[in-house]
Amino acid sequence: MTTTKIDIALNLLNQQLNQPLTAALEVCARCGICAEACHYYVAEPKVEHIPAARAESLRKVYRSEHDLLSRLFPSWTGAERLTEEKLAEWADIAFNKCTLCYRCTINCPMGLDTPLLMTSLRAIATATGNAPEVLEMLADAAIEKGKDPEIYLGFYKESIKDMEVELQELTGNPDASIPLQKQGAKKLYVALAGAHTILPVAAIFETVGEDWTLSIFEAANYGIFLGDASRAKAIARRIVDEAKSLGVEEIVISECGHAYYVMRWVAPNWFGDEFTFRVRSIVEVLAEYVQDGKLKLDPSANSEPITYHDSCNLGRKGGILAEPRVVLQAVTNDFRELTPNREEAYCCGGGAGLVALPEAYDLRMMAGKPKADQVKRSGAQVVVAACENCRLQLGDLSGYYGLGIGVTALTDLVVKAMRLPGNQKTVEHIMTLETANSGEHDNAEVWGSTDLVSLPSTKGDRSEPKSNV
Ligand code: SF4
Ligand code: SF4
Repeated sequence: MTTTKIDIALNLLNQQLNQPLTAALEVCARCGICAEACHYYVAEPKVEHIPAARAESLRKVYRSEHDLLSRLFPSWTGAERLTEEKLAEWADIAFNKCTLCYRCTINCPMGLDTPLLMTSLRAIATATGNAPEVLEMLADAAIEKGKDPEIYLGFYKESIKDMEVELQELTGNPDASIPLQKQGAKKLYVALAGAHTILPVAAIFETVGEDWTLSIFEAANYGIFLGDASRAKAIARRIVDEAKSLGVEEIVISECGHAYYVMRWVAPNWFGDEFTFRVRSIVEVLAEYVQDGKLKLDPSANSEPITYHDSCNLGRKGGILAEPRVVLQAVTNDFRELTPNREEAYCCGGGAGLVALPEAYDLRMMAGKPKADQVKRSGAQVVVAACENCRLQLGDLSGYYGLGIGVTALTDLVVKAMRLPGNQKTVEHIMTLETANSGEHDNAEVWGSTDLVSLPSTKGDRSEPKSNV
């Protein structure tokens, strides 16, 4: 007997039916409170943008499979059989119409986990061949690299050497270095693809005398966007094994929301006792340095009005809310909050892999309108986001809505406020993404222009644009 996509989908749904998923499928008061919590609905108040309405598509099939009354009298309960058309609809809902931001969950009186339902739909879409191809390619490329990292090591070492020259100029220390695979280092820093997530952090570590080493892997985990636990585990496994073999005390994740969330909150459940180290975001480490007085910072170095966008993965889902503000208060005299903020912050509209999908551009711009409005109201000229995904989306929003803002990482502001000897040469200005990204979305161009630290020799690194998500 041939196995159809419908069989695969229903089998997977059954396998996924643990207690939290079953609860999310069975319990919804249909009060509609979640509507105003979702940035899609706030941007465009349509029924299809209500979280509970999206979830209803899955619930209808669940009922037809698991509820006797629905089997006998489907029209009474609104139960529906699964079809190939519905599978395609699920893929669209899960990948394009929900950024897994969890704002609906924290505002639901029943704490209903709608994003868990959307993750289940992503898993089903992936298993039935309906997931966005680009996410699959990026996940597979990361796994492939983990199988034989030696192949990439020589090239990587060469890139690091170039970066070290930049680091020495920036810090004024001719001996400054970027340690790679250093046995017994305290911290294993896992960056994203591109020098812009390595050089500022290297300058900070160098200045405080940190005992650290750089990971040979990137922090991004596209398996999690696919709802594919086995691919997500394989990607995380590379970093866990590296941390174990080097004997580090902690893994420090670059300014990347989903990478932090996966390694800090998801991966420990997969690897259990193998987690002999802790996991922190670089944002937490920066806040610690500031609080311990390890960094001399001049807040007048960042004179423009600055605001902060809470990445959903770091803030609402990850609990990192106070730390970025500790750092921001130290690096600028004009920090202003967006309203609402912290755990109630709106998603920027580019999360959960959307920013990597060129076909999602129009949707992203629509769903990002509440964020664009917030930024406009704040009067800020610079928006800081401790997540690459968010920064790219904010840059796009600036171009689309004419915000005229600069978008930057927290580490870049810190390096500027450190007033290092090479600051004038290398950290001259905050690049206004609007000018680089006016109108149509061009990932390669955008990635090539988000670098606040001028790195002429490494700009070419952005040839892998989507791997920075
Ligand atoms: S707020 Fe919660 S209970 Fe109310 S409709 Fe939305 S998901 Fe259902
Ligand atoms: S998780 Fe976020 S994007 Fe998804 S339905 Fe809930 S509020 Fe909307």
